[in-house]
Order: sequence, then C-alpha cells, then structure tokens
Amino acid sequence: MSMTRSGNAVITPGNRVADYTARFGRFLGDDVAPLEEELARQDVGSAWQPRLDEAGRMHPLVWEARREVQRRAGKAGLYAPHTSAEVGGGGFSRVEMHHVEEFVYRRAGLGLGLAGLAWTEGPNPAVEHCSPQARERYLAPLIAGEITAAFANTEPDVGSDVLAMSTHARPDGSDWILNGHKAWITNSHFADVLQVVAVTEPGAGTRSLSMFLVDADAPGVRRGADIPTMLGDGLTGELEFTDVRIPAENVVGEIGDGFGLAMMWINWRRLCRGGMCAGWGSWLLERSLRYARDRRSGGRPIGELQAVQHLLANMDADVYQARSTSLVAQAELDAMGPFAMPLHRDAPRLISLVKVINDEAFFRVADNAVQVRGATGLLQGSPEEKLFRVARNLRIPAGTVEIQRNAIARGLLRAHAEEPR
Ligand SMILES: Cc1cc2nc3c(=O)[nH]c(=O)nc-3n(C[C@H](O)[C@H](O)[C@H](O)COP(=O)(O)OP(=O)(O)OC[C@H]3O[C@@H](n4cnc5c(N)ncnc54)[C@H](O)[C@@H]3O)c2cc1C
Repeated sequence: MSMTRSGNAVITPGNRVADYTARFGRFLGDDVAPLEEELARQDVGSAWQPRLDEAGRMHPLVWEARREVQRRAGKAGLYAPHTSAEVGGGGFSRVEMHHVEEFVYRRAGLGLGLAGLAWTEGPNPAVEHCSPQARERYLAPLIAGEITAAFANTEPDVGSDVLAMSTHARPDGSDWILNGHKAWITNSHFADVLQVVAVTEPGAGTRSLSMFLVDADAPGVRRGADIPTMLGDGLTGELEFTDVRIPAENVVGEIGDGFGLAMMWINWRRLCRGGMCAGWGSWLLERSLRYARDRRSGGRPIGELQAVQHLLANMDADVYQARSTSLVAQAELDAMGPFAMPLHRDAPRLISLVKVINDEAFFRVADNAVQVRGATGLLQGSPEEKLFRVARNLRIPAGTVEIQRNAIARGLLRAHAEEPR
C-alpha cells in the first residue's frame, strides 16, 4: 500500500482504524438497524427529521433512541475513540479520527447510527483537564455514553468576540458563584452536565475566563427556550444561571485557563469537519451518481449529459479537496499536539484551513446534490434538502468562516514577518 506523508506523519488509516470501522459497520447492522425500525414505528419522525415537542425541542422518544445508541456504542468501545487513552478513551490520533469520522458519516448518512460516535454532547479534549473527582463523576460516564454534556460559551450578545462575554463567576470560600445567560447552546435541553465558560478576572485578557462543570439540575440553573434554527432538530437553546454554586473540584484546569480550554473545545469541533464533510460529501455524491443513471431526459440518462457530468465532477473535486486538506493538516497537527496548551503557534492556521475549506467545499457539494435532482432535490424531508440546510449552517458555528480567515491571515503574516527580508 502506498503511504502519503506530511512531514513525518503517515496519513493512511492503519490497523486500528480498520478494526474500528469493521466493528462500527457491524454495530450499525446489529444494534442500530433494529432501533431505527422501532423508532420508525413510533411515528415521532426520524433521527434527522424529528418531530418536535410543544416547546420546540426534539421529541423525547427520538432523543431516547439516540441515547440508547450512545450507551450501546459506549459499551462496545465505539463511542469515544478520540478521547485520550490515559482517561479511558481510544487514544486515536486526529488522522485516525479523520478516517473514523469519514467512515461513520458516509456509512450512517443521516441515520440514527451517527449517534454512535461522540459529537458535541460527548467527551472532548477540554473536559479531560478536569479534577480527579470530576473525572469519576463526569468524564468516565461521558466516555461510556451514560451522560451527555453541553458546551456553553456563546451569549445572546456575544459570539465571535469571546472575550467580551458577561457571564461571570466570583469566589465564595473555595466555591464559585455563577451568574449569566448563554444562548445558541447545542444540547442545552437534555445535557446532564454543562461546560460553562465565564469571566473570573475582568480585564485580564486571555486569562480573564475560566471553565466550570455545572450539574444541569443544580439550583439556579434554568434551561431556557428552544432557538428554532434552520436545522429543525430542536437541539439548540438558552441557559440561565442565577447564583449557581460550583465546588472548586468542578473548575476545569486552573482558574484563568478558560479561554484556552474554550478554544480547545472549539478547535476539536473545527477538526471534526474534515471527516464529516468528506463522509457526507461522498454519501451525497454516491446518491447523485445513482440518480444520474436512473433519471432520464431526451430519452437518455441525465448522467450522459455533459452539464450534469460537470456537476458530478465538481462534487468529486470538492470532496477530494475536503479530504486531502483535512488529512494533510491533521497529520501536521498530530505532530504538534492538536490540543496542547499552549497550542503550537502554527496550529491555529492549520485548524482554520481545515474548517473553512471543508465548510465551503461541502456547501458546494450539497448545492450541486440538490441541482442534480431538479425539483426533487428541493423536496422538504429529502436527504439533499436536509444536508443543504446543514451545510449552510456549518459555516457559522465553531467560528464563522470569516473568523477562520482571520486566523489564517494572522498565521501567515506572523510567519512572514519573522522571515529575513
Ligand atoms: C446551530 C448552532 C449551534 C451552536 N452551538 C453552540 C454551542 O454548543 N455552544 C456555544 O457556545 N455556541 C454555539 N453556537 C454559537 C456559534 O458558535 C456562534 O453563532 C458563532 O461563533 C458566531 O457568533 P455569532 O452568531 O454571535 O455571530 P457574530 O459574532 O455576531 O458575527 C456576525 C457576523 O460578523 C462577522 N464577524 C464578527 N466578528 C468578526 C471579526 N472579528 N472579523 C471578521 N468578521 C467578524 C461574523 O463572521 C458574522 O458574519 C451555535 C450556533 C448555531 C447556529
């Protein structure tokens, strides 16, 4: 097998990934398919088009089906391959995770099986910095898929400008007292533990924030309204904190580490775009190829028309671009430590390249997938229509594409300024 190298990093999958994907493939058939059939019988929508409850949240039976997949994946050791081996996870590198994520998104498509691999509700690199007590109470159950988390950083008035947030925590003995209002939080309705970023030292710049683990049912926590986005999944909402008491053992890392930890979480999400966009992109391309062979115009399949062939070729080019960028950049990042604190100074540019190239390539893929199908591509409830909305969404959360370009330009200009003229 030929191997591609970037620096010293190998970007081919390897045995560990082959073993994982074989097991995940069996898991989809043996565990997920019966749960998906059971869900279909309950008339509450599907994992990707859930009916919403009266408050606009994902229907509880759809959420419970996802939870069951998470728990079973946790038991099977499939849920958290990205988490460090030292804390009980799979210890996979980012390159290995690209291959895992691409496989899962391509094979599961929009199905319930996607829940088998931890997403924003699962364990993440930042929470690994928690205290020994919190490790037992939160991290181990997160890795096992027994509980879920939400990352609460954004506020109604503050998104990109993270350091301008107003949610704050003040010391009270060894405890902390939290007050504030968060918005646009994925899994705010259902999370068991909230990973909240708050100001602890106003005016201290990148040391002004800290990260806390907050029990979602602690006194003073209120789950606010659902925020109905174009995703239509009933998973995004608000959180309010009024004099919430947090024990010292629930501080993640040290006081003042919050900005670095928040960026660690966000960078993890940015890097996950690689496998997600290449995987879903490949899935859409396969569906488009099938459609182009079946659908006829002027007495022949539309796949014989050059205009349609170019749509397909552009999709292939975009998927290839998304995958290659992700693999090369993540191989370089594996060598640097993708979640090190402090982060290698060349890392932010690479992370932002992964996100912006994948977000934009996948948006074009999703757009072309709609176009290949004509009117049926616009049909509400079709996979193409849903993924077009998902693709449009991806360019905003975890840092907008404009914010990624800022980071890329900052990295370029810094490196250039350091070179002799
Ligand atoms: C579906 C969904 C799920 C989300 N999940 C979470 C979550 O789980 N946890 C969480 O904490 N947050 C979450 N968010 C929030 C998300 O991270 C923010 O929406 C995002 O960071 C952008 O912030 P904003 O919406 O406030 O836009 P703003 O920051 O107000 O930006 C508005 C516009 O101005 C541009 N802009 C702003 N500042 C700059 C700048 N310095 N340079 C160039 N352009 C700039 C932006 O690119 C954008 O085009 C989620 C959002 C969505 C839509």
